[in-house]
Amino acid sequence: MKVIGLTGGIASGKSTVSAILRQKGAYIIDADEIAREIVKPGKPAWKEIVDYFGSDILNEDGSIKRRKLGRIVFSDDKKLAVLNRITHPRIVEEIKKELEACRQRNEKVVVVDAALLLEIGLDMLVDEVWLVSVDEKTQVKRLIERERSISYTEALERIRAQMPLEEKLKFATRVIDNNGDIENTKKQVDRIWREIEKSWEDSKHETQQSTF
Ligand code: ADP
Repeated sequence: MKVIGLTGGIASGKSTVSAILRQKGAYIIDADEIAREIVKPGKPAWKEIVDYFGSDILNEDGSIKRRKLGRIVFSDDKKLAVLNRITHPRIVEEIKKELEACRQRNEKVVVVDAALLLEIGLDMLVDEVWLVSVDEKTQVKRLIERERSISYTEALERIRAQMPLEEKLKFATRVIDNNGDIENTKKQVDRIWREIEKSWEDSKHETQQSTF
């Protein structure tokens, strides 16, 4: 099984790229979905969050007001660190479990789609790191378009709370430039996919040969 770690800033186009990879037969582990799952009412992370941030961040049904919590932590580094300490280890644990399940099922290619892949050390669990890259202007525009009720300042705050793109580039095995249209991005993914298929085929042959 080969594991690709797909990363990039918020609204860089990770989901867009994972959808393309899913069509190619890759199994996608979505870290965002896991992050939502582990803070559901009654879960250990939910309890710790409510203890620290208070019940003002809860909806009537006990679920967390994600936007409100987001506003609180993205303008206060200390609070963001607390939230990260509560959630990150649990996200890593869940991803490890899912990867193990994928191994059991003999999945061929698995993609771990995670904005915080590098920040939380998930790159240790993957064979390749693919970085989706966009310039900040495009990123802000797409983030505002997607979230609608987010302001320009908030969008910038969220982007700048993450590891800068230049830093992420140091860890990337592949870079997908998503500044252009979706068709352009698809072409890049197609090309990389063909390359890795070939290199994985080659390494399979080498392994087979070396056993003789
Ligand atoms: P991420 O998963 O990294 O947060 P998304 O894949 O959701 O990012 O992309 C962010 C937003 O930008 C979405 O609304 C998506 O439809 C849009 N988008 C992504 N890639 C492109 C592109 N190449 N051209 C135009 N819009 C795009």
